[in-house]
Amino acid sequence: MEEWLEGQVVKNIKWTKNLASLKLKAKINNHQAGQFTRIGLKVNDDFITRSYSYASAPKDELLEIIYVNIPNGKLSPILHNLKIGDKVSVMQQAIGYFTLDEIPDGENLWMLATGTALGVFLAILKTSPPWKRFKKIILIHSVRYAEELIYQDLIAEMKQLYPDQFIYLNSVTRSKVKGSFNFRIPEGLSSKKFQESTQIEINEDSQFMICGNPEMIKETTEVLKSFGLNKNRRAKPGNITVERYWV
Ligand SMILES: Cc1cc2nc3c(=O)[nH]c(=O)nc-3n(C[C@H](O)[C@H](O)[C@H](O)COP(=O)(O)OP(=O)(O)OC[C@H]3O[C@@H](n4cnc5c(N)ncnc54)[C@H](O)[C@@H]3O)c2cc1C
Repeated sequence: MEEWLEGQVVKNIKWTKNLASLKLKAKINNHQAGQFTRIGLKVNDDFITRSYSYASAPKDELLEIIYVNIPNGKLSPILHNLKIGDKVSVMQQAIGYFTLDEIPDGENLWMLATGTALGVFLAILKTSPPWKRFKKIILIHSVRYAEELIYQDLIAEMKQLYPDQFIYLNSVTRSKVKGSFNFRIPEGLSSKKFQESTQIEINEDSQFMICGNPEMIKETTEVLKSFGLNKNRRAKPGNITVERYWV
């Protein structure tokens, strides 16, 4: 049964007109990095709930999510209007299996995110297991506009902490930006531009975690399958583990 708790807004950071991070104080149970919660709000007589990946690590004091304000969306425009001290409902227990425990061993770990899915990877990267388990970790964040390349301070800190292990690439699809690629993730892999840039080959020793836009996930999975990789399932371990944010 779903148990709900009261969460109190501590910060609602607006990165762009529609992209934001919400920080909540809530007495949630321990969670695993990579899991998600549900946030619920009463709208007229309905209780509207939506899922959000934790961008906060298990050790962080506040529950943090990254969200985008979807015009005509049911819940996200309300999140966007929340002020410090406002209350929301939050699930006591986190859910989901997009966690490192579910990822088979390998040499390199590729983390591929569109938009708000960056958060789930930041949560995982704030913990120690990925750094202990993989030789190289490649985080690729694809956004439409450069202003959506958020959490650059945290990413810079990670680069400093793990200079030989961590590679961060980004791609801005709707404008040309110095230092960024300008194509979608599936194209970056199929053209081998990401592999050339990182000097890392994709082979059966590569593990992929892919999160965000379902089209990107579908197309990227096809590209990776053409390289001989398979979906990771509990019954049949493979190289491609995914989490879709919508259908
Ligand atoms: C496991 C899981 C984890 C999720 N984690 C996050 C998260 O960390 N951050 C987040 O913003 N959303 C996340 N979502 C999506 C989130 O649950 C909502 O669908 C989203 O906030 C829109 O809700 P809404 O009621 O405003 O819009 P709705 O009326 O539900 O409209 C949904 C439409 O908005 C679009 N959409 C939904 N989510 C996104 C998104 N993240 N980026 C761009 N377009 C989107 C899609 O076209 C979708 O059909 C997650 C979903 C799942 C299933």
